Amino acid sequence: MTVYKAEYIWVDGTEPTPLLRSKTKILAVGEEPPTWGFDGSSTNQAPGDKSDCVLKPVFTVPDPIRGGDHKLVLCEVFTVDGNPHPTNTRAPLRAVAEKYAANGMWFGMEQEYTFMKFDGTPLGFPTNGYPAPQGPYYCGVGGSQIYGRDIVEAHLEACLQAGLKVSGINAEVMPGQWEFQIGPVPPLEMADSLTLARWLLCRIAEEFGCDATFAAKPAKGDWNGAGCHTNFSTAAMRESYDAVVAACEALGKKAMEHVKAYGHGIEDRLTGKHETQSWKQFSYGVSDRGASIRIPWQVKIDGKGYAEDRRPNANCDPYVVTRMITDTVCSAE
Ligand code: ADP
Ligand code: MN
Ligand code: MN
Ligand code: MN
Repeated sequence: MTVYKAEYIWVDGTEPTPLLRSKTKILAVGEEPPTWGFDGSSTNQAPGDKSDCVLKPVFTVPDPIRGGDHKLVLCEVFTVDGNPHPTNTRAPLRAVAEKYAANGMWFGMEQEYTFMKFDGTPLGFPTNGYPAPQGPYYCGVGGSQIYGRDIVEAHLEACLQAGLKVSGINAEVMPGQWEFQIGPVPPLEMADSLTLARWLLCRIAEEFGCDATFAAKPAKGDWNGAGCHTNFSTAAMRESYDAVVAACEALGKKAMEHVKAYGHGIEDRLTGKHETQSWKQFSYGVSDRGASIRIPWQVKIDGKGYAEDRRPNANCDPYVVTRMITDTVCSAE
Protein backbone atom coordinates (compact mmCIF):
# COMPACT_ATOMS: atom_id res chain seq x y z
CA MET A 1 0.00 0.00 0.00
CA THR A 2 1.35 3.43 -0.89
CA VAL A 3 -1.09 5.47 1.19
CA TYR A 4 -2.51 5.29 4.69
CA LYS A 5 -5.58 6.73 6.40
CA ALA A 6 -4.92 9.18 9.24
CA GLU A 7 -7.94 9.68 11.51
CA TYR A 8 -7.52 13.21 12.95
CA ILE A 9 -9.26 13.36 16.35
CA TRP A 10 -9.96 16.48 18.41
CA VAL A 11 -12.04 17.79 21.31
CA ASP A 12 -14.80 20.20 20.21
CA GLY A 13 -16.43 23.22 21.88
CA THR A 14 -19.80 21.75 22.88
CA GLU A 15 -21.06 22.95 26.28
CA PRO A 16 -21.34 21.95 29.03
CA THR A 17 -19.40 18.82 28.04
CA PRO A 18 -17.29 18.77 24.86
CA LEU A 19 -17.65 15.98 22.30
CA LEU A 20 -14.99 14.21 20.29
CA ARG A 21 -14.78 14.78 16.53
CA SER A 22 -12.72 13.15 13.81
CA LYS A 23 -12.13 13.09 10.07
CA THR A 24 -9.85 11.21 7.72
CA LYS A 25 -6.85 12.39 5.72
CA ILE A 26 -5.13 10.21 3.12
CA LEU A 27 -1.34 10.41 3.38
CA ALA A 28 1.60 8.74 1.65
CA VAL A 29 3.13 5.91 3.67
CA GLY A 30 6.10 7.38 5.55
CA GLU A 31 4.64 10.90 5.53
CA GLU A 32 4.17 12.49 8.98
CA PRO A 33 0.62 13.81 9.61
CA PRO A 34 0.75 17.54 8.74
CA THR A 35 -1.16 20.44 10.27
CA TRP A 36 -4.74 20.45 8.98
CA GLY A 37 -7.96 22.42 9.47
CA PHE A 38 -11.70 22.14 9.97
CA ASP A 39 -14.93 24.11 10.04
CA GLY A 40 -15.16 25.42 13.60
CA SER A 41 -18.64 26.82 13.00
CA SER A 42 -19.92 23.23 12.96
CA THR A 43 -18.22 22.24 16.24
CA ASN A 44 -19.08 25.22 18.46
CA GLN A 45 -15.54 26.53 18.02
CA ALA A 46 -15.96 29.49 15.65
CA PRO A 47 -18.53 31.85 14.12
CA GLY A 48 -19.57 31.16 10.50
CA ASP A 49 -17.80 34.20 9.08
CA LYS A 50 -14.46 33.20 10.66
CA SER A 51 -14.93 29.47 10.65
CA ASP A 52 -11.42 28.09 10.10
CA CYS A 53 -9.73 26.30 12.99
CA VAL A 54 -6.36 24.56 12.91
CA LEU A 55 -5.52 20.96 13.86
CA LYS A 56 -1.98 20.31 15.11
CA PRO A 57 -1.08 16.62 15.52
CA VAL A 58 0.34 15.88 18.99
CA PHE A 59 -0.03 12.13 19.64
CA THR A 60 -0.12 9.45 16.93
CA VAL A 61 -0.81 5.73 17.46
CA PRO A 62 -1.57 2.73 15.21
CA ASP A 63 -5.27 2.61 14.23
CA PRO A 64 -6.59 -0.68 15.66
CA ILE A 65 -9.87 -0.42 13.75
CA ARG A 66 -8.50 0.01 10.24
CA GLY A 67 -5.28 -1.91 10.98
CA GLY A 68 -2.32 -1.94 8.55
CA ASP A 69 -0.40 1.32 8.28
CA HIS A 70 -3.41 3.39 9.33
CA LYS A 71 -3.11 5.82 12.23
CA LEU A 72 -5.10 7.68 14.88
CA VAL A 73 -3.84 11.25 15.14
CA LEU A 74 -4.84 13.18 18.26
CA CYS A 75 -4.70 16.95 17.68
CA GLU A 76 -4.70 20.21 19.58
CA VAL A 77 -6.96 22.94 18.20
CA PHE A 78 -5.41 26.32 17.35
CA THR A 79 -6.84 29.54 15.95
CA VAL A 80 -5.59 30.75 12.55
CA ASP A 81 -3.41 33.38 14.26
CA GLY A 82 -1.40 30.60 15.86
CA ASN A 83 -2.69 30.64 19.45
CA PRO A 84 -4.20 27.70 21.32
CA HIS A 85 -7.98 27.82 20.83
CA PRO A 86 -9.94 28.77 24.00
CA THR A 87 -11.35 25.20 24.03
CA ASN A 88 -7.81 23.74 23.95
CA THR A 89 -7.23 22.58 27.54
CA ARG A 90 -4.17 20.54 26.56
CA ALA A 91 -2.03 23.66 26.02
CA PRO A 92 -2.24 24.81 29.69
CA LEU A 93 -1.56 21.23 30.86
CA ARG A 94 1.62 21.22 28.74
CA ALA A 95 2.91 24.25 30.63
CA VAL A 96 2.12 22.84 34.11
CA ALA A 97 3.49 19.37 33.28
CA GLU A 98 6.74 20.95 32.13
CA LYS A 99 6.98 23.23 35.16
CA TYR A 100 6.69 20.28 37.56
CA ALA A 101 8.41 17.59 35.47
CA ALA A 102 11.01 17.07 38.23
CA ASN A 103 8.27 16.07 40.73
CA GLY A 104 7.67 12.90 38.70
CA MET A 105 3.85 13.01 38.68
CA TRP A 106 2.03 9.86 37.51
CA PHE A 107 -1.69 9.37 36.99
CA GLY A 108 -3.99 6.37 36.70
CA MET A 109 -7.60 7.18 35.78
CA GLU A 110 -10.59 4.85 36.16
CA GLN A 111 -13.03 5.78 33.41
CA GLU A 112 -16.58 4.65 34.16
CA TYR A 113 -19.16 4.77 31.37
CA THR A 114 -22.57 3.41 30.41
CA PHE A 115 -23.85 1.80 27.23
CA MET A 116 -27.14 3.35 26.12
CA LYS A 117 -29.65 1.89 23.71
CA PHE A 118 -31.00 4.27 21.07
CA ASP A 119 -34.27 4.51 23.04
CA GLY A 120 -32.29 6.35 25.72
CA THR A 121 -32.25 3.59 28.35
CA PRO A 122 -29.08 1.89 29.61
CA LEU A 123 -28.21 -1.47 28.02
CA GLY A 124 -29.77 -4.12 30.28
CA PHE A 125 -32.68 -1.89 31.36
CA PRO A 126 -36.18 -2.80 30.13
CA THR A 127 -37.64 -0.02 27.93
CA ASN A 128 -40.25 0.78 30.56
CA GLY A 129 -39.21 0.26 34.14
CA TYR A 130 -36.15 -0.89 35.98
CA PRO A 131 -34.03 -4.02 36.32
CA ALA A 132 -33.39 -5.74 39.68
CA PRO A 133 -31.57 -3.37 42.10
CA GLN A 134 -27.82 -2.89 42.42
CA GLY A 135 -25.94 -5.83 43.88
CA PRO A 136 -24.99 -8.60 41.44
CA TYR A 137 -23.70 -6.47 38.55
CA TYR A 138 -20.30 -5.21 39.81
CA CYS A 139 -17.64 -7.60 38.49
CA GLY A 140 -20.50 -10.01 37.73
CA VAL A 141 -20.80 -12.95 35.40
CA GLY A 142 -23.85 -14.40 33.64
CA GLY A 143 -26.50 -13.32 31.16
CA SER A 144 -28.77 -11.65 33.74
CA GLN A 145 -25.89 -9.63 35.22
CA ILE A 146 -23.77 -8.60 32.28
CA TYR A 147 -24.68 -6.47 29.26
CA GLY A 148 -22.26 -5.44 26.55
CA ARG A 149 -19.25 -7.62 27.30
CA ASP A 150 -18.60 -8.17 23.58
CA ILE A 151 -18.22 -4.39 23.11
CA VAL A 152 -15.97 -4.13 26.18
CA GLU A 153 -13.69 -6.93 24.96
CA ALA A 154 -13.42 -5.34 21.50
CA HIS A 155 -12.54 -2.00 23.11
CA LEU A 156 -9.91 -3.49 25.41
CA GLU A 157 -8.25 -5.26 22.49
CA ALA A 158 -8.31 -2.05 20.43
CA CYS A 159 -6.70 -0.02 23.24
CA LEU A 160 -3.91 -2.59 23.58
CA GLN A 161 -3.30 -2.67 19.82
CA ALA A 162 -3.12 1.13 19.79
CA GLY A 163 -0.42 0.92 22.47
CA LEU A 164 -2.43 2.75 25.14
CA LYS A 165 -1.36 1.79 28.66
CA VAL A 166 -4.72 0.38 29.72
CA SER A 167 -4.28 -1.43 33.03
CA GLY A 168 -7.63 -3.20 33.48
CA ILE A 169 -11.42 -3.34 33.01
CA ASN A 170 -14.40 -4.29 35.17
CA ALA A 171 -18.19 -4.40 35.08
CA GLU A 172 -19.71 -1.71 37.31
CA VAL A 173 -22.58 -1.54 39.78
CA MET A 174 -25.39 -0.78 37.29
CA PRO A 175 -26.39 -2.96 34.32
CA GLY A 176 -24.65 -1.70 31.15
CA GLN A 177 -22.10 0.26 33.22
CA TRP A 178 -18.39 -0.52 32.90
CA GLU A 179 -14.95 0.84 33.69
CA PHE A 180 -11.51 0.80 32.12
CA GLN A 181 -8.32 2.01 33.77
CA ILE A 182 -5.28 3.63 32.17
CA GLY A 183 -1.94 4.25 33.86
CA PRO A 184 0.13 4.92 35.75
CA VAL A 185 1.65 7.38 33.26
CA PRO A 186 2.75 11.06 33.28
CA PRO A 187 0.05 13.77 32.98
CA LEU A 188 0.06 14.47 29.24
CA GLU A 189 0.21 10.79 28.31
CA MET A 190 -2.63 10.17 30.77
CA ALA A 191 -4.98 12.73 29.26
CA ASP A 192 -4.05 11.91 25.64
CA SER A 193 -4.49 8.17 26.20
CA LEU A 194 -7.84 8.65 27.93
CA THR A 195 -9.08 10.87 25.11
CA LEU A 196 -8.14 8.29 22.47
CA ALA A 197 -9.59 5.43 24.56
CA ARG A 198 -12.86 7.38 24.85
CA TRP A 199 -12.92 7.92 21.09
CA LEU A 200 -12.26 4.22 20.46
CA LEU A 201 -15.08 3.28 22.83
CA CYS A 202 -17.62 5.52 21.08
CA ARG A 203 -16.39 4.34 17.66
CA ILE A 204 -16.59 0.64 18.56
CA ALA A 205 -20.02 1.01 20.21
CA GLU A 206 -21.27 2.19 16.77
CA GLU A 207 -20.56 -1.27 15.41
CA PHE A 208 -22.77 -2.81 18.11
CA GLY A 209 -25.72 -0.46 17.63
CA CYS A 210 -25.45 1.49 20.87
CA ASP A 211 -23.90 4.59 22.41
CA ALA A 212 -21.29 4.86 25.12
CA THR A 213 -22.08 7.78 27.41
CA PHE A 214 -19.84 9.45 29.98
CA ALA A 215 -22.84 11.11 31.66
CA ALA A 216 -22.31 11.38 35.41
CA LYS A 217 -25.85 10.29 36.36
CA PRO A 218 -27.08 8.18 33.42
CA ALA A 219 -30.02 6.70 35.40
CA LYS A 220 -32.12 8.52 37.97
CA GLY A 221 -32.91 6.77 41.25
CA ASP A 222 -30.95 4.47 43.48
CA TRP A 223 -28.06 3.88 41.10
CA ASN A 224 -24.44 4.91 41.45
CA GLY A 225 -23.33 7.70 39.17
CA ALA A 226 -20.37 7.36 36.82
CA GLY A 227 -17.05 8.76 37.95
CA CYS A 228 -13.47 8.96 36.83
CA HIS A 229 -11.43 8.25 39.97
CA THR A 230 -8.04 9.81 39.50
CA ASN A 231 -5.10 8.07 41.17
CA PHE A 232 -1.92 10.09 41.41
CA SER A 233 1.56 10.00 42.88
CA THR A 234 4.67 12.13 42.87
CA ALA A 235 8.14 10.63 43.25
CA ALA A 236 8.04 11.81 46.89
CA MET A 237 4.69 10.05 47.51
CA ARG A 238 6.13 6.84 46.07
CA GLU A 239 8.86 7.13 48.75
CA SER A 240 7.04 8.38 51.84
CA TYR A 241 3.64 8.23 53.54
CA ASP A 242 4.09 11.76 54.86
CA ALA A 243 4.15 13.01 51.27
CA VAL A 244 0.88 11.14 50.56
CA VAL A 245 -0.77 12.89 53.54
CA ALA A 246 0.73 16.25 52.51
CA ALA A 247 -0.82 15.84 49.03
CA CYS A 248 -4.25 15.19 50.58
CA GLU A 249 -3.87 18.28 52.80
CA ALA A 250 -2.89 20.41 49.80
CA LEU A 251 -5.97 19.23 47.87
CA GLY A 252 -8.15 20.04 50.91
CA LYS A 253 -7.05 23.68 50.79
CA LYS A 254 -8.39 24.04 47.23
CA ALA A 255 -11.34 21.66 47.49
CA MET A 256 -14.05 23.84 45.98
CA GLU A 257 -11.86 25.05 43.10
CA HIS A 258 -11.21 21.41 42.15
CA VAL A 259 -14.79 20.19 42.50
CA LYS A 260 -16.06 22.97 40.23
CA ALA A 261 -13.67 21.89 37.48
CA TYR A 262 -14.31 18.13 37.73
CA GLY A 263 -17.20 17.79 35.28
CA HIS A 264 -20.73 18.95 34.54
CA GLY A 265 -23.41 17.96 37.04
CA ILE A 266 -20.98 17.04 39.81
CA GLU A 267 -23.46 18.14 42.53
CA ASP A 268 -25.87 15.44 41.31
CA ARG A 269 -23.21 12.73 41.60
CA LEU A 270 -21.31 13.76 44.75
CA THR A 271 -24.31 13.52 47.05
CA GLY A 272 -22.63 11.81 49.99
CA LYS A 273 -24.41 8.56 49.05
CA HIS A 274 -23.39 5.80 46.64
CA GLU A 275 -19.71 5.67 47.70
CA THR A 276 -19.17 9.42 47.42
CA GLN A 277 -18.42 12.33 49.71
CA SER A 278 -20.73 15.35 49.32
CA TRP A 279 -19.34 17.95 46.90
CA LYS A 280 -19.69 20.50 49.72
CA GLN A 281 -17.33 18.63 52.00
CA PHE A 282 -13.72 17.50 51.86
CA SER A 283 -12.22 14.50 53.62
CA TYR A 284 -9.50 11.93 53.12
CA GLY A 285 -9.00 8.57 54.71
CA VAL A 286 -7.50 5.12 54.44
CA SER A 287 -9.79 2.67 52.56
CA ASP A 288 -12.65 5.19 52.82
CA ARG A 289 -14.89 5.09 49.74
CA GLY A 290 -17.07 7.79 51.29
CA ALA A 291 -14.13 10.23 51.34
CA SER A 292 -13.12 12.77 48.71
CA ILE A 293 -9.63 11.24 48.63
CA ARG A 294 -9.00 7.58 49.46
CA ILE A 295 -5.60 6.31 50.53
CA PRO A 296 -5.55 2.60 49.56
CA TRP A 297 -4.94 0.24 52.52
CA GLN A 298 -1.84 -1.18 50.82
CA VAL A 299 -0.34 2.33 50.71
CA LYS A 300 -0.83 2.67 54.47
CA ILE A 301 0.83 -0.72 55.03
CA ASP A 302 3.71 0.00 52.64
CA GLY A 303 4.15 3.50 54.07
CA LYS A 304 4.30 4.98 50.54
CA GLY A 305 2.49 4.92 47.20
CA TYR A 306 -0.39 6.99 45.82
CA ALA A 307 -3.81 8.45 46.58
CA GLU A 308 -7.15 8.35 44.76
CA ASP A 309 -9.14 11.52 44.09
CA ARG A 310 -12.65 10.03 43.89
CA ARG A 311 -14.37 13.28 42.90
CA PRO A 312 -13.89 13.68 39.11
CA ASN A 313 -17.01 12.85 37.08
CA ALA A 314 -16.97 10.35 34.21
CA ASN A 315 -17.53 13.38 31.94
CA CYS A 316 -14.52 15.30 33.32
CA ASP A 317 -11.87 16.88 31.11
CA PRO A 318 -8.72 14.79 31.82
CA TYR A 319 -6.50 17.72 30.74
CA VAL A 320 -8.11 19.93 33.40
CA VAL A 321 -8.14 17.28 36.15
CA THR A 322 -4.49 16.26 35.69
CA ARG A 323 -3.41 19.91 35.42
CA MET A 324 -5.15 20.95 38.63
CA ILE A 325 -3.91 17.99 40.68
CA THR A 326 -0.36 18.43 39.36
CA ASP A 327 -0.43 22.14 40.15
CA THR A 328 -1.98 21.80 43.63
CA VAL A 329 0.08 18.82 44.79
CA CYS A 330 3.44 19.77 43.28
CA SER A 331 3.31 23.45 44.27
CA ALA A 332 2.99 22.26 47.92
CA GLU A 333 5.98 19.86 47.73
P1 ADP B 1 -10.15 0.79 42.53
O1 ADP B 1 -9.84 -0.17 43.66
O2 ADP B 1 -10.30 2.18 43.02
O3 ADP B 1 -11.31 0.33 41.69
P2 ADP B 1 -8.53 0.33 40.10
O4 ADP B 1 -7.79 -0.96 40.11
O5 ADP B 1 -9.74 0.41 39.26
O6 ADP B 1 -8.81 0.77 41.63
O7 ADP B 1 -7.57 1.50 39.59
C1 ADP B 1 -6.36 1.79 40.20
C2 ADP B 1 -5.61 2.77 39.33
O8 ADP B 1 -4.50 3.25 40.06
C3 ADP B 1 -5.07 2.21 38.03
O9 ADP B 1 -5.42 3.07 36.97
C4 ADP B 1 -3.55 2.25 38.23
O10 ADP B 1 -2.88 2.54 37.03
C5 ADP B 1 -3.40 3.41 39.19
N1 ADP B 1 -2.15 3.43 39.95
C6 ADP B 1 -1.51 2.40 40.55
N2 ADP B 1 -0.37 2.81 41.13
C7 ADP B 1 -0.28 4.15 40.91
C8 ADP B 1 0.67 5.16 41.26
N3 ADP B 1 1.77 4.89 41.98
N4 ADP B 1 0.44 6.43 40.85
C9 ADP B 1 -0.67 6.72 40.15
N5 ADP B 1 -1.60 5.82 39.79
C10 ADP B 1 -1.41 4.54 40.16
MN1 MN C 1 -11.79 0.89 39.75
MN1 MN D 1 -15.43 2.07 39.57
MN1 MN E 1 -11.54 3.76 42.34
